[in-house]
Amino acid sequence: MAQPLYLIANVGVVAGTGMVAARAIIKDTVILEDDPLVVIDTNITHVQWNQGQRSATFYADERNNTTRRIHSALRSVRWRDNRVAFRALSSGRVALNNAPARVTDANIVESNAFGFEDPSQNDRHWLVVYRNISRLNHSCVPNARVTDILTGTNANRNPNHTGRMKIIATKDIALGEEITIEYSKDPGFWLHSFNIRSPALQTHWNFVCNCIACTVGNRAFTDSAWAFARALETEIFLPDPVNQPFVFAQRIYSAEQFISTLEFYGFSDERLSRALIQCLCLVFLKLLTVKQVPSTGRSLQAGRRDGKDAQGGYRWAYHRRT
Ligand SMILES: [Zn+2]
Repeated sequence: MAQPLYLIANVGVVAGTGMVAARAIIKDTVILEDDPLVVIDTNITHVQWNQGQRSATFYADERNNTTRRIHSALRSVRWRDNRVAFRALSSGRVALNNAPARVTDANIVESNAFGFEDPSQNDRHWLVVYRNISRLNHSCVPNARVTDILTGTNANRNPNHTGRMKIIATKDIALGEEITIEYSKDPGFWLHSFNIRSPALQTHWNFVCNCIACTVGNRAFTDSAWAFARALETEIFLPDPVNQPFVFAQRIYSAEQFISTLEFYGFSDERLSRALIQCLCLVFLKLLTVKQVPSTGRSLQAGRRDGKDAQGGYRWAYHRRT
């Protein structure tokens, strides 16, 4: 059996345990696949979950015993080994305070769960906790991404695979480097300034991000680089200019810059696919525009016929050569 590409290791005082590369990993490699330890039905729609403080209220209700969705889900976990692995995700701080199990469990889910919406269940928001994938720490400049969680028909065909997820490298990763992902699946979350990212991460995942983009010394640089990237993105999706090859050329250049920025920062998701498709559309539209250049020829001939302006000489010369 092949050696795993990762190790679970201590990655620092702030982040605690994380995942590091056990050997050099090439971009686009599948680093691991994981099945859920526990799947929790929040009984809240995906839209509601993402509104304001709704997720924070859910966890507060679970800690207070007002609702017991996490408790019921854990009771239905068949394997003792999975329950032990779930509890092992606790940082230990809560357990040391002799907090009730429901508080510890809610904290573990809050810090480690991935959310997904299930279209076959009225778009309800589900939470999934993994043995290994839940060890991955967040970075605003990640080097890996998660695939979509298997739901619906595929999952129903093999119940053991409900919620199975893969981690794929979005950059080349060096031996010993920490493997990180972007926690938010919302493509609109990327490239936002620190003042927008930081409160959102605290609200939804209950931690203060200390990644390289969020450290005090790098915030201003990253914010301005990403503001520029957002301006490029706005430009490439402006309405198509009519018959202006130079504008198309400029937009293609902007699209290339935007795509390289996303790739450089390790963002490989819908936003990158959308930009690549738009770039191809712009190249195609530019080619169409160039094909219409004979209209210039027609105007030259029209000018030649009246033959009275300063450029008439060129036109006559052109006419004689042909
Ligand atoms: Zn960060």
